[in-house]
Amino acid sequence: MNVEEFRKHGKALIDFIADYSANIESIDVLPKVEPGFLSPLIPDEISHDPEPFENIMKDVSEKIMPGLTHEHHPKYFAYYTSGVSFPGTLGDILASGLSVGVFNWINCPAGTELENIVMDWFAKALGLPKYFISDSPGSVGGGVLQNSASECIFISLLVARAHVIEQLKGDSDLHDSVFLPKLVAYTSEDAHYSMEKAAKMSLTRIRLIKTDSRGKMRVDVFKEAVLNDINNGLIPFFVMATLGTTGSAAYDNVYEIGKFSKTIPYMWFHIDGAYGANAFILPEMRRFGEGMEYADSMNVNACKMLLVNFESSAMWVKDVMIMKKALSANPVYLQHDNENKVSAIDYRNYGISLTRRMRSAKFWFVFRTYGLVGLQNHVRKLLILAKKFEKLVLDDDRFEVVNEVHLGLVCFRLKHSDDKTEKLLNIITNSRKMFMVPARLNDKFVIRYCVMYEYTEERHIIESWKVITEVATHILGQSGCTNGSLNGHP
Ligand SMILES: *Cc1c(COP(=O)(O)O)cnc(C)c1O
Repeated sequence: MNVEEFRKHGKALIDFIADYSANIESIDVLPKVEPGFLSPLIPDEISHDPEPFENIMKDVSEKIMPGLTHEHHPKYFAYYTSGVSFPGTLGDILASGLSVGVFNWINCPAGTELENIVMDWFAKALGLPKYFISDSPGSVGGGVLQNSASECIFISLLVARAHVIEQLKGDSDLHDSVFLPKLVAYTSEDAHYSMEKAAKMSLTRIRLIKTDSRGKMRVDVFKEAVLNDINNGLIPFFVMATLGTTGSAAYDNVYEIGKFSKTIPYMWFHIDGAYGANAFILPEMRRFGEGMEYADSMNVNACKMLLVNFESSAMWVKDVMIMKKALSANPVYLQHDNENKVSAIDYRNYGISLTRRMRSAKFWFVFRTYGLVGLQNHVRKLLILAKKFEKLVLDDDRFEVVNEVHLGLVCFRLKHSDDKTEKLLNIITNSRKMFMVPARLNDKFVIRYCVMYEYTEERHIIESWKVITEVATHILGQSGCTNGSLNGHP
């Protein structure tokens, strides 16, 4: 493809995305496909001869689009989906088009410095502790962009593990692995599964601490577990608290957890704020983060509320040197004259990958296009819409709300019945008009309803509630119709 062809197809592709976004409401949120649908539609091998780009786009329209679940759709209420925005998309296109690797300063001075700058902007916008902000006086901390929260959590655990082992080892010649059997990490049973996965991948013993009826880590149980482990000769070295749990968007008490963790030698305190910490862009929400000052590291997924396209997981550490020590090796071909200057960051030492795209571009585009006020308005709107939905649920005495609704997530169920709630969810999902996912809270089956999409309006909330109540009426047998399908439902 030459430059002129690129110009032509590139413009057509932007039009394609724009048309898709403009017409999203006319499409069902879930696709009508079964597993294995794609391979009969696509050749078994790479085409022998070059194909015109138009052919590829035709297949995108005819074969790929019908097989998509539309995450950016006003009736998509599942998971904590990633936000998306036009400026974010343009930032990603720029990063892709320039395609420079941000792994050491010399290979991409502007991309490196921009990443550091937007990480400082982001930390300031959320009101995070000063020591995470590289340009604040006396700070030795800073931020880095990883692909995912799972990666941030894994890296934090590896860094903390390397740090405790270094201290335990002192000047001895013992191999690092000698200390592994003694180390213990903690998080709550409602924490994201990526913490368990990180522990598994790093051969780390982990304790999942019980949560209270609202899904928060029970600090008394945590303390007891730590003291018990110490009595048994083990070494507690890592605890992760969550701001906005996956099941119910609960905020752990980071003040209590953090304060206690600082009384335990070697304990690293990590905060997973992948979803809930985004809300701190609203100063009135920061009360839920009281105690963040105890954190050694923290992660936030800007895609989860702040409209930066995904692979936008920000991670901050209090002391960058500790991280670099754990994650660096220095072959000659990667050394450069400026490598010991603070302003010449080598991001390869801040994570797993060497080559990394210019992830900062989409942040920069989004932050500037919306401004702080635009982002605050967006988050405020999500919280108001969730409250609106909560009220609709509370006003119908067949239903109950089972989480504290502070953020965009409402967990609800039909009173007294797991089975009927599950049936309600299945019928709605099979209709493909709305997408929600379940969770178990306090051992009850609940439906999660999460508002994330930029262009969701109150009418979408009302329409979706209408679908839910109609199906509920039908399930509860009040309509006299019992065949279990959503007959001719819109
Ligand atoms: C979404 C989420 C994660 C995982 O995020 P990825 O970026 O998909 O790895 C981890 N923790 C919490 C609290 C989350 O909400």
